[in-house]
Amino acid sequence: QVGVLAVIGRPNVGKSTLVNRILGRRAAVVEDTPGVTRDRVSYDAEWSGIDFKLVDTGGWEADVEGIDSAIASQAQVAVQLSDAVVFVVDGQVGLTDTDERIVKLLRAAGKPVTLAVNKIDDAPSEYLAAEFWKLGLGEPHAISAMHGRGVGDLLDAALDAL
Ligand code: GDP
Ligand code: MG
Repeated sequence: QVGVLAVIGRPNVGKSTLVNRILGRRAAVVEDTPGVTRDRVSYDAEWSGIDFKLVDTGGWEADVEGIDSAIASQAQVAVQLSDAVVFVVDGQVGLTDTDERIVKLLRAAGKPVTLAVNKIDDAPSEYLAAEFWKLGLGEPHAISAMHGRGVGDLLDAALDAL
């Protein structure tokens, strides 16, 4: 019985880039335009000898109800189907209202959450992660999905929760 780890967060924070980094190949679609990931895509993944399913989320493009409700529904479905969640935020943008709304959904779902502060591409930028302590999700893990910084430590923490 392999656990399911869902990667959620608002568009353009780097969820698909993180999924590709974990898989070690370009399977998930990365785009400069927000919201290109279609639906939820599940991949077989392995880390430190642990097999798990990794779910990339998206599917909000062309959503006529507006981006907020689309994010809410994709996040809810992904969380319901998962055993644990990696919640990705953008350390360069900082904390947004949408991030806070997603946290409320996560809290209601009661699944274990590991917080990833992405786009922390170098050591001098690490201070940007501290702001996210206020989300109340525990330690903000500073990562760079693009360069691979911090991704190992993030996965160790996330898979501990599986
Ligand atoms: P998603 O919408 O959350 O799946 O985000 P994507 O993975 O498609 O990435 C959105 C944009 O952010 C792309 O231009 C990525 O190249 C960029 N990006 C992703 N991770 C990083 C990172 O660690 N550092 C920087 N500087 N850019 C990143
Ligand atoms: Mg994506």
